[in-house]
Amino acid sequence: KLGNATVKAELGRATWKYFHTVMARYPESPTDDQKEALRSYIYLFARLYPCGECAEHFQQHLHKYPPQVSSRNAASGWACFIHNEVNAMLDKPEFDCSNLGDFYDCGCNGDEEGDVK
Ligand code: FAD
Repeated sequence: KLGNATVKAELGRATWKYFHTVMARYPESPTDDQKEALRSYIYLFARLYPCGECAEHFQQHLHKYPPQVSSRNAASGWACFIHNEVNAMLDKPEFDCSNLGDFYDCGCNGDEEGDVK
């Protein structure tokens, strides 16, 4: 059970890494189907996040700031913004979203966009 701050933080770090990497791999010009896939993914992610208190907070953030799925830039920028909302709630420093660049690299060179269905 996740009633331990260290474990909760570790889960958070791993999850954010994955979450931002998903956005960095999202197509620059997504189809309607890809947009819908990302939107539903984000809502299900929020609903199923293993820390119940976190999931509840995150769903409130989502309600206030709905996912932006129109492009990779929009999605990455939105994810950075919403992570900053969580940072603010937890009294953590704000991350400069103009530094996102290549920060989240999937290590999957060579299959750029081609694998995102
Ligand atoms: P993290 O916030 O985990 O960030 C990891 C790394 O990501 C940072 O070191 C930095 O390099 C980078 N980063 C930081 N900000 C951004 C940004 N805006 N955009 C892109 N990259 C960035 N914990 C709670 O105690 N209560 C909660 O309610 C809670 N809700 C959460 C909800 C979700 C959906 C998730 C994924 C996590 C939540 N957490 C919550 C965990 C919390 O956000 C942190 O992950 C945890 O406290 C560890 O923090 P950290 O300082 O190591 O950095």
